Amino acid sequence: MTRPARALIDAHALRHNLNRVRQAAPNAKVMAVVKANAYGHGLVRVARILLGANAFAVASFEEGLALRNAGVAHPICLLEGFFDAEELALLNHYRFMPVLHHESQLLQLEHSQDSSPIDVWLKVDTGMHRIGFAPEMAAQMRKRLEACPQVQRIRMMSHFANADDTADMTTQQQIDRFKSLVNGWGLEGSLANSAGVLGWPQSHVDWVRPGIMLYGVSPLLGKTAAELELQPVMTLSSRLIAVNRHRKGERVGYGGEWVCPEDMPVGVVAVGYGDGYPRHAPSHTPVLVNDERVSLIGRVSMDMITVDLRTQASAKVGDPVVLWGTGLSVEEVAEHAGTIGYELLARLPQRVPRVEIN
Ligand SMILES: *Cc1c(COP(=O)(O)O)cnc(C)c1O
Repeated sequence: MTRPARALIDAHALRHNLNRVRQAAPNAKVMAVVKANAYGHGLVRVARILLGANAFAVASFEEGLALRNAGVAHPICLLEGFFDAEELALLNHYRFMPVLHHESQLLQLEHSQDSSPIDVWLKVDTGMHRIGFAPEMAAQMRKRLEACPQVQRIRMMSHFANADDTADMTTQQQIDRFKSLVNGWGLEGSLANSAGVLGWPQSHVDWVRPGIMLYGVSPLLGKTAAELELQPVMTLSSRLIAVNRHRKGERVGYGGEWVCPEDMPVGVVAVGYGDGYPRHAPSHTPVLVNDERVSLIGRVSMDMITVDLRTQASAKVGDPVVLWGTGLSVEEVAEHAGTIGYELLARLPQRVPRVEIN
């Protein structure tokens, strides 16, 4: 038997979630965001399952290259653009579409000798204040791009800062700024991340850019994935590798943080922070053993966690454990650990085998 920690990747759920995007944004083209190893799910595997998308978006040239090397022919958008002249020179060859967000990139493009024409996304900062040109600069940047022989087609992009909160009207201001800027330009545009897709239909315009919802995680505050009809794609699972009885007053794990309140059975699961389980998850974080909730107890180790089996008198070595996924949302686990589902998924390390199901 090999070490049982596994990330099950549910292909059917992934396709279902893409259909949810189509249903919510029926008139938009879909750029599926697969950066960060497809939020930990496996870049190439996810792209092959999501061939129904119109394009893919990644954060780096290397991620785009991995897709091309796997035979993915879709348009690929580089969300941070190119990072040096070497990448710039290869954009046309690989048919990558960079996001242009800073004048330094424009200057490189204008001065490049060897680049053949490419499609670009001009990024406008409508209120996120991370990357992008101020709206009052955008018209000028567009003119420069139009004058640039290295540029074929220009599209417009902006990104939301707080669309997960559907009561925050700054998102509406961002939408208004974007629309009033590009109004009459006759260029395609893209604003909506997952929260935009589900919470802000007026933001869909020509292209939507869902990430987290494709993986079955709720992008909206106060709404569960189930309420939004999303299905979890990754189930992080393992097995009990020991069940031990400890006496009242005995301490469990590093630092002895958990003190047994009575004589009790303690299960040991082969999963730890070396597998991406959050080290800061406190005692009482839920874990599923035999499909039933039990509590994490004591500190998370690199390769193991311990769980309270007082409600599972017959639990034994080899019994199945779910850390998150089907039956226990990653959002809930993340909340216990003081983080978000995005981080837990994206940090899943290489050593956890991904196994495709369905
Ligand atoms: C990551 C990212 C997305 C996807 O965001 P989700 O919240 O995961 O849907 C969309 N657009 C840009 C520019 C991004 O960086």
